[in-house]
Amino acid sequence: MDKSYQVAVFHGDGIGPEIMVPALEILQLLSACNPDYDLAFTDAPAGASHYAATGEAFPAKSLETARDADAILLSAMGLPDVRYPDGTEISPQIDLRKKLGLFAGVRPVKVSSGQITPLALPEGKEIDFVLIRESTEGLFFTQGAGDVSEDEARETLLITRDVSEKLFRFAFQLAQTRKQSGRGQGRVTCVDKANVFRAFAFFRSIFDAEAARHPDLQADHAYVDATALWMVQKPWEFDVLVTENMFGDILSDLGAGLMGGLGLAPSADIGLDHAVFQPCHGSAPDIAGQGIANPFAMILSAAMMLEWLGLTHKNPALSQDGTRLRAAVEQVLADGTNLTRDLGGTAGTKDAASSVLELLKA
Ligand code: ATP
Repeated sequence: MDKSYQVAVFHGDGIGPEIMVPALEILQLLSACNPDYDLAFTDAPAGASHYAATGEAFPAKSLETARDADAILLSAMGLPDVRYPDGTEISPQIDLRKKLGLFAGVRPVKVSSGQITPLALPEGKEIDFVLIRESTEGLFFTQGAGDVSEDEARETLLITRDVSEKLFRFAFQLAQTRKQSGRGQGRVTCVDKANVFRAFAFFRSIFDAEAARHPDLQADHAYVDATALWMVQKPWEFDVLVTENMFGDILSDLGAGLMGGLGLAPSADIGLDHAVFQPCHGSAPDIAGQGIANPFAMILSAAMMLEWLGLTHKNPALSQDGTRLRAAVEQVLADGTNLTRDLGGTAGTKDAASSVLELLKA
């Protein structure tokens, strides 16, 4: 069995390259110490800085590198001051979702006991759920092409059977994997607004058909507004949530808020043949170049990449290292002595990341 895996690396803009450096250092260490797999990295230049320097935002060669890779690691991208002539922002990460059919936006929300959260968690409760945001259609379908006249504006929401079936299949598979690893009850909740919109009743009916294929798992529904309430009131009850693009966009920031901010929120955009792993946050131009960005969302995204590679290539060594990496970040968070400013500490990017590296070496 070939145990060598190619990773395409998009270094990003603003704080992007600053947080990618320690993430790569950690992955290189894990790969060097583990005889059961080998990671090889190839840079894929793209993004706002690249556009400013070359006039090209996403070179064809970089897309090819991404297509050929086993996984894609992408740092924060885009700069508010660098735009296309029509005023829209440079966002190769969105191009990748469409070009590679990455329909499942996976946003884990995890708060271990001892970790700082704006909620007062009841004794013994931990938050550990995954929000899956459909990422190629929904209300983003007409993105950049809405119909706007002097007097009215229209955007179209698209829900297709094909993408919804893939999405729900993925959601139930994830719930199954989590249940097997002891991290969830094996429940998938379809988050929609089926009481008001026919499109969501359609979405829900496709969910129900998939749910019927998984008698060993639980399935239920929740309206999106109630879900926002419950994410604050009783987030420990969720396992896997699956929803439309715009609802998922909004709820995933609420999820990041539960974890204490964007600096701790990792994500993955997953399709049938490709997957991109990236932090939820943007390029934070307000703090770029100062060495103070929180690297943990990027590092946790790298951990998700290892777990996903392990699962898709049936290589447990990768999955175990992904879990070990996540646990190391959680330990640094619980310890609390080497945290960046967004988490109330004083550490710089390098020092915060070094704590994780040292734990892995130990
Ligand atoms: P985008 O629209 O590209 O997602 P955004 O406008 O939502 O970006 P971000 O770039 O994510 O904004 O930044 C929002 C705020 O969070 C900023 O004040 C930024 O400094 C802070 N922030 C984001 N990421 C980090 C990080 N990794 N470490 C510390 N602060 C961060």
